[in-house]
Parts: sequence; C-alpha cells; structure tokens
Amino acid sequence: MKAGRRTFLKSVGVASLATTLPLTACTGPKAPAVIGSSKMKLSFRPYELQLQHTFTVAGNSRNTTPVVLTEIEYEGFTGYGEASMPPYLGESQESVMNFLKKVELGQFKDPFLMDDILEYVDFIDKGNRAAKACVDIALHDLMGKMVGQPLYKLWGLNPDHTPMTSFTIGIDTPDMVRTKTEEARRFKVLKVKLGGGNDREMIETVRSVTDVPLYVDVNQGWKDKHAALDLIHWLSEQGIEFIEQPLPKTQVDDMAWLTENSPLPIIADEAFQRISDVAIFKGVYSGVNIKLMKSTGLREAHKMITVARAMDMQVMIGCMTETSCAVSAASQLSPLVDWADLDGNLLISNDLYEGVQVVDGKITLNELPGIGIMKLES
Ligand code: MG
Repeated sequence: MKAGRRTFLKSVGVASLATTLPLTACTGPKAPAVIGSSKMKLSFRPYELQLQHTFTVAGNSRNTTPVVLTEIEYEGFTGYGEASMPPYLGESQESVMNFLKKVELGQFKDPFLMDDILEYVDFIDKGNRAAKACVDIALHDLMGKMVGQPLYKLWGLNPDHTPMTSFTIGIDTPDMVRTKTEEARRFKVLKVKLGGGNDREMIETVRSVTDVPLYVDVNQGWKDKHAALDLIHWLSEQGIEFIEQPLPKTQVDDMAWLTENSPLPIIADEAFQRISDVAIFKGVYSGVNIKLMKSTGLREAHKMITVARAMDMQVMIGCMTETSCAVSAASQLSPLVDWADLDGNLLISNDLYEGVQVVDGKITLNELPGIGIMKLES
C-alpha cells in the first residue's frame, strides 16, 4: 500500500487542521457546524429517525435511530450525506461529529480529487465507518451534481437492471407480524428476521398472508450449527431464497461447515465490513451483504462488488435505518447486485429527502444528479 502517500496526506491534514482551529461546535439542526478553510466546506448536524413500528431483531429492539446529516458545499453546489448509527455498530452521533470536526476538506483543490480526499479521510482514524461514509456519500453527490448526472450513469450502469428490494418484517407477535405483512403487500420480496425463539411461527405467520419469495436474516441469533442446518432444510421448503448471518460471526469454522452443507446460500452481514474481508470469507459464506455504513461509503462498496464477483461470491446490498439520502446513494449501485434490501427509508416517519422510489417492488432510479435526491426541508 502507498504508505508514504498516506503518511503525507495525514500530515497535511493535521497541519491544515492546526491552522484552522478553533473549530465551530455543532449547535443543533438550524446551525450546522462549518469546517474548512477554502472553497469546499463540510457541515453536519444530528438528527433522530422515528421508526413507524418498534423494530426487533435477534439481540435488540428500538423505536429510534440516531443519524448525522452532512452537506459539502463547493461553488454553489451542495452534496448531501448521512451516517446512520444503530447501536450495535459502536458509533454514536457524538463519535461521528467528533470525527467530522477533524475532516479538513479545504486543503483539497476540488471535489474531483475523490481518491486523495477519501484516502485522507480513511486515515484520520481507524474505525468510524459510518462517519467516513457520510463524507463519501456527500462527496459523490456533489460530484454528480457538478457534472449534472446521476452516479449510476457515470458508472455506466443500466437502470433497468435494478433488483426488487425486500421489505423487512421484524420479530414480533403473530398478530403484529400478520399486520406488518399485510401492510407490505406492495413488495414482491420480504425479509423476515429470525433468531428470536419463534422461528417457525414467524415464517408460518408470514406464509398465512403471502406467497412472495422470502429472505431470512438471523442476525447471529442461532448458536448450534446442527440445529441451524435442520432449520435451514425446513426453510428451504418454505420459499426462502437465502439465509443471512445465521451464526455468531466468531464461529467461523461452524459457518464454513454450514455453508458447505446448506441447501440455501449463506450471506455474511455482521461478520463482513470492508474490502479486505471479501477474501477472508471466500469459502466461509456464499456471498456478502454490502452496506455503505460498513464499507465507509460508495467508493469502497463499488470496489467490493468487483472483488466479490471476481471471487465468484454472491452480492447483496443492504442498509441500516436511514433516510432517503443514504438509501438512494446505495441504490445507485443496485444494478450490479443479486439482491437488495434497501427499505431503511420506508421504515421511518420523518424522512427529510425524496429520492429513489419502489415501483411494483422494484428499485426505480431517477434522473436527478448525484445520489438522486431532493431535500424536503432545510
Ligand atoms: Mg442483516
């Protein structure tokens, strides 16, 4: 790797930061912090997403999700970005904003130096993947707006090749599962969360309402590989297409055994974060679930799809609970994947953007430049 270049970029960033202090603290939604000394300026603010239903997966329940919204301004154009922090990721609004205060974009001549800029951002500190993603997304949006084209066109992707998106049904009582499944009738694929101790009841309840294909996400909720395989054999007879993260990510040998013996593809989610993980998990999983909040954004996610394909692995693109900002960004890559689970914006009641739409269950890209969104309020 280009160690010398990275050291140089990091030192430039630190030196530049020192000359632009003091930094403005973020003071709330109406007064975003502005960091930067030249034309390109990064601002950010915290925001709380309200979920339409309590969302339960193996391990936790929640009614809200904290996010941080970013904007990068340059020569009259504004790019939008977002970091979403469900609790299990280990990031928070505070950690994201503390990271963003260190990001000095003013040192770069223009947004088209994306490779240099995002490498510099990556080396400010380790981890902080969602924080890095919200810079990456805003920068891609800005670049697309400056050239007047949506990202999928700049990447040469055919919008007709977008997949259906699944809609997620969380772990709940049979009555609530039935209600949620009926509300999701416009979707052609559903993703059902399992691992809560009522797996067969969950599937049977969903199946009492609909015959659409189902994805299953266990969120590491099963512990025994033999019991897991028995259940997967039963699920393979229920119209299930794949199983996501059935065992804890630490049970690597058990997962490899399960993948080898399973009649359904096994997809890595919690175990899988960045591009270096793709090679590690060849043979352990059938495929990978790529999410911008794990991959540090679009730039690395795009590369990860290429690497996974080269290794003959299947590719899914997913999301956290997010506004239409981050979901529309991820959708720009969706013509490249086998499966999409891009429903995060549809689970909330206070979206701030309008972007990608779901038409007859299919992800439908628009002609708006960049990540394809319009801001609904300031
Ligand atoms: Mg998952």
